[in-house]
Amino acid sequence: MHRERVSENVFWFQSEVYAQVTAGVVAGPQWAVVIDTLALPDETLTIREFIEHELNVPVRYVINTHYHADHSWGNCFFPGATVIGHTRCRELLEERGIPSLEAGKKQNPALRQVKIVLPQMTFKDGDLTLRVGKKNLIISNAFGHSHDGISVLVEEDRILFAGDSFMPIPHVVDGDVDENIASIKHIGKMGLENIVQGHGDIILRGEIDAAVKENINYLSSVKKAVKAISKRKNAVELLEDIRIEDCGKSRVYLGGLANTLHQSNLHALLRQMSN
Ligand SMILES: [Zn+2]
Repeated sequence: MHRERVSENVFWFQSEVYAQVTAGVVAGPQWAVVIDTLALPDETLTIREFIEHELNVPVRYVINTHYHADHSWGNCFFPGATVIGHTRCRELLEERGIPSLEAGKKQNPALRQVKIVLPQMTFKDGDLTLRVGKKNLIISNAFGHSHDGISVLVEEDRILFAGDSFMPIPHVVDGDVDENIASIKHIGKMGLENIVQGHGDIILRGEIDAAVKENINYLSSVKKAVKAISKRKNAVELLEDIRIEDCGKSRVYLGGLANTLHQSNLHALLRQMSN
């Protein structure tokens, strides 16, 4: 797993085993906040060990940017902590997370020790502010990748943990393309120093404008391309011809996962348009 110090008391982790998914830690003098938990127990426990043995504080809060497995299934490894999420995140973890973990346990023995822990503290509209040492964490809605997405702004440092509302390849299969475009536009206007994407690398200040444009262009292109073929009888087959490069993205992103995500976006949009 990669680890980096982003600013004073703010740390970033990136999985080497699952889709370059990321997590964050913001530490205060008495306790720390974890933002997302990664996918597999070994990596989650490495984060906990770093916090408890290098930073020498316990974890008091865990924030889930959304309910997907790679962001929330590690909640159970922070037993003393209060979990914070969107109201919908709690519902979705209960409705979908619990059965999907049961199914996952049959495939992957590493998941045997995992238990779903639902957020105990939830919010719906507006912001939630958490004071950690000298820093404010402002938690706000960031929909589009999912219907329960939230982001966490480290106000003093202008670092945004964007969850999957910002990714190298935006992914809207479980969300809404227009909501994701709106979230990305909003992020572009926040005056940020860094964007911590839910997957992939940290985006630096000088790269933000280009990344915002590229993501909006990608989602708009995908929408337009699917719409253009949606009325055709063989629309599903025609999706194969909409290449990721034609939508302004490269297939090398996310260790080769990019094209799989792209194809699933196309199929999801076609389904939505035919409904
Ligand atoms: Zn994810």
